[in-house]
Order: sequence, then structure tokens, then C-alpha cells
Amino acid sequence: MQKIAIFPGSFDPFHVGHESIVRRALPLFDKIIIMIGYNVNKKSFFPIENRIKWIKQVFENVERVEVRLHNGLTVDFCKEVNAGYILRGLRTSADFEYERAIAQVNKKMHPEIETTFLLTLPEHTPINATIIRDIIFHGGNASMFLPKCLNFEEFTINGKNSNS
Ligand code: ADP
Repeated sequence: MQKIAIFPGSFDPFHVGHESIVRRALPLFDKIIIMIGYNVNKKSFFPIENRIKWIKQVFENVERVEVRLHNGLTVDFCKEVNAGYILRGLRTSADFEYERAIAQVNKKMHPEIETTFLLTLPEHTPINATIIRDIIFHGGNASMFLPKCLNFEEFTINGKNSNS
């Protein structure tokens, strides 16, 4: 049976911390599905089409990574795609406490699904999507926090970033 892991998140936007977790987890699983949690009623920063496109670009040469949208519980999506694992990244003790509760509740309800954690690389610990959005919103250059292959000029808010 294939070992399939779901990497769920809002990825608004997908950054180097996310990329590193997926690349480091690839030797552990046959396939990783990056699941963008999508709620039509919740306003995101970057359009969903761009978020999908950017992740696809990052993994365009990696067959074992897929990107999918899902509106609902991650465990339901796991069942839909036959995934036995949820992959999460841990930065801090605050992440740990938050993740622990979700993982234990999921485990109680769906014992067949395991949540697995990878500790972030030390240099990625302070990176989060909120800070990146804030930098871009205020016209700063956040390109060093985004996957290298992406074009920072596309990361505009109301048509502006530090390059425009
Ligand atoms: P959420 O909205 O669920 O927090 P995110 O898109 O921010 O989703 O993150 C998705 C996953 O990536 C989570 O498991 C989160 O812990 C992990 N993650 C976020 N930032 C980093 C980082 N800098 N290093 C490693 N993992 C990270």
C-alpha cells in the first residue's frame, strides 16, 4: 500500500519553511499531497489560483508532490485520497501545543490516521506567512523568504510590491 501524506495549510503564501518541510519529508512517503484549505467565505490575501500556481511551480519536477484544494476537515480529505498520514511542521513550543491538541483529537476520532511532525530548520523558525504578507503589504522585499524559483514580482498586493 502506498504511503500517502497530506500537508495541509493555507499557504498564503507558500514559503521556504513549507518548501523545506515537503522536501525533507519526501524520503519518508511515496506521495505528498499539499492540501490548500479553502473556505469561500474566508478572505485570503493572495488569490487561490496564484497559490496553486506557485506551489505547482516549486514542485514542477517532483512527480510525487501534488497540490489539491479542500474545503472541510483534513481527515475527510485523507479518506478521500487514501492518505494514512498528516504532515505538519513545528517551529516553536506554541506550534507544538496547538498541533498536539489537533493531532490527538484527530487520532481519537480516526485512529488509522497518524500525524507526523518535522522540526523546522533553525533558520526557518521565525518565518511565517503573516510576516511575509505584512512585508509585501508595506512594500518590503520578502523574496528571501519565498522559494527561489518563484518570481517575486508576481507577489503583489493591490498591484504593488517593493519591485514596483
Ligand atoms: P496554517 O494556516 O494551518 O498555520 P500554514 O500555511 O501557515 O498553515 O502552515 C502549514 C504548515 O506548515 C503547518 O504545519 C505549519 O506548522 C508549517 N509551517 C509554517 N511555517 C513554517 C516554517 N517556517 N518552518 C516549518 N514549518 C512551517
